[in-house]
Amino acid sequence: MDFNPADKIQDLQYFGEFGGVNPSISDSSTYTFLSAKTMFDTFEGNAEGCYLYSRHSSPSNLYLGQALAAMEGTETANVAASGMGAITPVLLQLCAAGDHIVTSRTIYGGTYAFMKNFLPKLNINTTFVDITKLDVVEAAITPNTKVLYCETVSNPLLEVADIESLAKIAKKHNLKLVVDNTFSPLSVAPAKMGADVVIHSLTKFINGSSDTVGGVTCGTQEFIDALRNVNDGASMLLGPTMDSLRAASVLKNLRTLHIRMKQHSYNAMYLAQKFEKDGLKVVYPGLESHPGHELYKGMINKEYGFGGLMTIDAGTIDKANELMELMQNRNLGYLAVSLGFYKTLFSAPGSSTSSEIPLDEQKEMGLTDGLIRFSIGLDNDIERTYNMMKECMIEVGVLKAAATV
Ligand SMILES: *Cc1c(COP(=O)(O)O)cnc(C)c1O
Repeated sequence: MDFNPADKIQDLQYFGEFGGVNPSISDSSTYTFLSAKTMFDTFEGNAEGCYLYSRHSSPSNLYLGQALAAMEGTETANVAASGMGAITPVLLQLCAAGDHIVTSRTIYGGTYAFMKNFLPKLNINTTFVDITKLDVVEAAITPNTKVLYCETVSNPLLEVADIESLAKIAKKHNLKLVVDNTFSPLSVAPAKMGADVVIHSLTKFINGSSDTVGGVTCGTQEFIDALRNVNDGASMLLGPTMDSLRAASVLKNLRTLHIRMKQHSYNAMYLAQKFEKDGLKVVYPGLESHPGHELYKGMINKEYGFGGLMTIDAGTIDKANELMELMQNRNLGYLAVSLGFYKTLFSAPGSSTSSEIPLDEQKEMGLTDGLIRFSIGLDNDIERTYNMMKECMIEVGVLKAAATV
């Protein structure tokens, strides 16, 4: 891929009002006007560079949106107070009563719950399919389908979506392809492969310090304007607005994303290869044993690698819990949901982040109850980490001691 998103971010320059190297933070909910006429024009959305009210837009939020649009290679972007605050307005903007969505059966638990339990109240229905089977995806499309929705790398099973092929299917049936790229910032640029809308939970890798939730929607100027329309825009009217102070803080963290992603990917690849060699059931898109490996290899910007997420099957939920508690006691990371932190985070998705998915469906999709999802941290010496993790696995009986000699 010749599009390097980190360079695009770096090429943007904005200064503070006193020449500060960071843009000034807009600490206001409302803005004054020298003339009443300009206020009217701004409300109507045609006074470039003027601000009216911070739910509509604010300088800090626009700066962050601009940087994320540069990263994804889209015309523009709209930041939101959370990932769900980006996802839900997009779906409500694109779908009306009677419309239909096709998506993957392995998606983020909150997105799944919104589509499965909430949208049917508005008579918007969703078919959940195995997104890796393109014929199954196409067969699920009906005359009412408006949206094809997927995650680049799915949560928590790390299935890889063939975005280019899905984009072709979407074009053919006149659907919008919406891609949640939360697990693979910089590595994958879905808009460059034909996605219409790209969403991130900024809470994860992009902010990277587990101190806030945030989200973004990247797309065409026309679509983002529609989301922000004062009369019928879902983002405008539902009000999931990010605070300006937080937007400024996320923008500063975005500056180091390229360095962090390289380290997350390097560390995750190291551990995945070692533990697979040790005989564990490891799922990581960087491993040749991963069914989406070849596909993903062709999709990623190699510099940023295969990402920081991997899963290991500990066999049973009891073993998984015992192992996670021991690893936390040894300071190898935290037993916590979420991802993209400098420390390794681990959780058992079946009983936490994917618990919205009924047990029989979890089983059908291969979400076993001993599955541990790891978001691998920025550890400086990953060999040392590996040895310490392995020690824990031997102690709880997930690995046999004999395998070490
Ligand atoms: C966390 C997450 C979300 C939701 O984001 P929030 O910031 O928690 O609202 C959506 N999609 C994926 C893939 C996620 O990991």
